[in-house]
Amino acid sequence: MKNFRLITKLNENISVFRDDLYPFLGGGNKGRKMDIIAEDIFKKGANALVTTGGIQSNHCRAVAVFAAQYRMKCTLVLHGDQQKFHIESGNAKVMRDSGVNIIFAKNANEIGDVMDAEMKEYSKKGFNPYYIWGGGHTFEGGKAYISAIKELEKFCCKNNWYPDYIFHASGTGSTQSGILAGLDKYMQDTKVIGISVGRKTEQATKVVGEFYKELCNYYNIKFSNREVIVLDDYLCGGYGMYNDEIKELSQNSIKEFGFTLDTCYTAKAFYGMKDFIKRNDLENKKVLFWHTGGIFNYLAE
Ligand SMILES: *Cc1c(COP(=O)(O)O)cnc(C)c1O
Repeated sequence: MKNFRLITKLNENISVFRDDLYPFLGGGNKGRKMDIIAEDIFKKGANALVTTGGIQSNHCRAVAVFAAQYRMKCTLVLHGDQQKFHIESGNAKVMRDSGVNIIFAKNANEIGDVMDAEMKEYSKKGFNPYYIWGGGHTFEGGKAYISAIKELEKFCCKNNWYPDYIFHASGTGSTQSGILAGLDKYMQDTKVIGISVGRKTEQATKVVGEFYKELCNYYNIKFSNREVIVLDDYLCGGYGMYNDEIKELSQNSIKEFGFTLDTCYTAKAFYGMKDFIKRNDLENKKVLFWHTGGIFNYLAE
């Protein structure tokens, strides 16, 4: 039997960090984040969870599976197409089948109020509820990636292979901020390039930069003020949107690479990475593609 390896080689220059195979809570970066958020949930003795996301949210799926595993009360405040939610596969099916309480917010600006009301309701019933920001965008979510860099450093040290660049899909920003803080703690010189899946560069860079600094502060890491790069050149109009090339890349991903790339996150990021490498003559650089998951998104497409 082969040893489980979390980093696989794609070609001479590109390796892949396989968080799509993260072994708990359905995997991906939301599984990794939720496992560390769980430590805080247990520490606080919480027994009910409230969070939010879209109808194919990887985060809500990880929270729903966690709640089922630990028999905790859980409310997901979802936004998006309710009809689709009831027929789609992927994360929607996992959420439906998990037995958690699901509420639809009529529009995005009432999500906060609905979550607050659910928190109050759980307290009134004698539970100790725990609020999780959408996407697992919390200090613990960031910490998950600080620790992941420790794993990466071990691998790099053992194989004497240190990436010049890390590319990954960037959304709420906690994955990228955590990676940056982790590099400050454990590694040098590696550059991080987030491919934005929804936000414009200006906003994304600000959010990632601030959270990176906060994480360093919170976890006592010497902040080295690394350059924060989040590219919005591959948005294709916004979250969930893609072009023909991204679609084709996704459709051929298993055949070509032996792993899935979904159009919402990882195919977008992979496409952005390839294009960026080409445009900037980085073909000879050592590159790590951080595969953040999205298998369930792929299955729903
Ligand atoms: C949420 C998500 C991301 C983005 O991670 P953030 O920490 O929110 O920036 C990337 N890829 C996948 C598959 C995701 O589910």
